[in-house]
Amino acid sequence: MPKSHQSGASGPSTDVAAQAPDAATADAGYGNAAAQDAVKKAMGGGHYQIKRGDTLSGIAKATYGNAALWHEIQRANPDKVHRGGNLIFAGEILDLPVIDDGKGTGSTDAGGGGTTPAPGPTLRTTDFGVFQVYPDDFVGPLPPTQDAIQIVRQATFLQYQAEAQTQTINLDIDALDEGVSFERTVVTIGGEKVAVTSKAQAQHAQRIIKTLREVYGIKVDSQAGVDAIKAQYKRVPATELDKLKTKEWEYKELVALEKALSHFAPILGNPRATSSRKGDTQEITSVSKVDQAIDKNSASGVLDHSTLGEFFSGSKNFSTFTAGTNSAVDFKDSSKQLEGTAVHEIAHGLMKNELPAFITAMDYWTDQYTKSGTAGAEAPPTDYGQTNAGEDLSESVMLYFVDPDSLKSKAAKRSAWIDGVVKSWAPKTAAPSP
Ligand SMILES: [Zn+2]
Repeated sequence: MPKSHQSGASGPSTDVAAQAPDAATADAGYGNAAAQDAVKKAMGGGHYQIKRGDTLSGIAKATYGNAALWHEIQRANPDKVHRGGNLIFAGEILDLPVIDDGKGTGSTDAGGGGTTPAPGPTLRTTDFGVFQVYPDDFVGPLPPTQDAIQIVRQATFLQYQAEAQTQTINLDIDALDEGVSFERTVVTIGGEKVAVTSKAQAQHAQRIIKTLREVYGIKVDSQAGVDAIKAQYKRVPATELDKLKTKEWEYKELVALEKALSHFAPILGNPRATSSRKGDTQEITSVSKVDQAIDKNSASGVLDHSTLGEFFSGSKNFSTFTAGTNSAVDFKDSSKQLEGTAVHEIAHGLMKNELPAFITAMDYWTDQYTKSGTAGAEAPPTDYGQTNAGEDLSESVMLYFVDPDSLKSKAAKRSAWIDGVVKSWAPKTAAPSP
C-alpha cells in the first residue's frame, strides 16, 4: 500500500502543503521562557510568507542562521504550523519571533546568567490530542487533566508521539473545511481510502482506525483483504485474481465496524489476555474493504458481486465487499445491516472455537454439515442459518448483538447459549466484601 507522508525527508509536496522535512524528528525540546529571557539577544522579528517547498528548518536557517531554531518559529505560530512542525502551508505568513542567543532552545542550560530556570509546560496541539507537556524534571505532582487537555511529562508525550507516528496520517484532513458538509470526498487515512462528507466524519474515521488498531489489535488494511482472497482461492486463474482491487470505505461502514467489534471487546487486544480466551491467538488481526469477492475456488472461479463479507482464517482477515455497502438482506436499517454483516463474519473468526460445543448443544445438528432431523429441535433463526452449523452460529450471534429480541423470540435456546458464552469471556469480578 502506498503510505501517506510521514517524515517527508524526500517525499513529494502536495498541492496544498509545503513540508517541513527534518522538523518531525528534531522535535524533542520544550520551552523555557525564563531561560530565554535571561540572555536576551535580539534576533529575528518580522514576518515571512511561506513559499512552496519551504521547510521550517530552512526558514530558520535563512532568518536566524540556525536551522535548529525551527522550533521557535513553530512555537510562535501555533495555528500555522501543523503536525508537530511537519506541515506548513504555502501562502501563510509566519511571525518570526525575537529570540535569544540562538545557541539552541528549550534546553535548561541555555539560560546562563545565574538564573535558575523554572521549568514550565508547553501546550502541544497534535493529531493525537491536545497536551500540556511538562519537562521530565518538573518537580511536584502534575496538575489534574483539564477538559480535553491531557497533562503529561515530556517522556510520555514523546512516547505518544512515537506511537502516533507509527500510523500514517493523511494530510487531506487538515485541508478540509471545518463545520460544513461537502460533496462526498475520498480522503486517505492511515493508508486507507475513506469517503466522507465533512471534516468531522474524516476525524471520526481517523479515530476509529486508531481505536481498532490500538484497542482491538486489528489493522484496517484493505490490501490485506486482496492478499487474503488470493491466498484462499489458489485454484482461480491469476488473470481473474488480478482483477481484485481494494475499495474505499464508506464512513458509515467504519462506524458500523467499530460497533460490531465493540461487542467482542473482552476477547480483543489487551483485554484478551485476561479473558477466557487467553492463550489462544486472536483470530482476526486485519479488516479490509475489497470491491468484489471470488465465487469459488476452481479454475472457473470468477469475481463475485454478491458476497457481503468473508472471513479468511489463514490470513486472520475479515473483508467486507461493495455488495454489502447498501445491502438490506437482514435489516432494513443500513447501519444495522452493516453492523450485522460484520458481526456475522467476526463470529466466524472469534467464535470458531465454540462451534463444536454449539453443535452439541443444538440438537438440530449432528455435525457441522448434517442436520439431525430431530423432531422439535429448535431451528436456526434465519434461512441462511440452515446452510450449516457455522452459518447458524454466525447468524445467531449476529441477531444476539444486533436484534436480541428477535433472536429470543425465534430461537430462545440459541439466545441463552450465546449469552452464556459471551458472559464467560470477561473475568469474573471479585466478590464484594461483606
Ligand atoms: Zn457466514
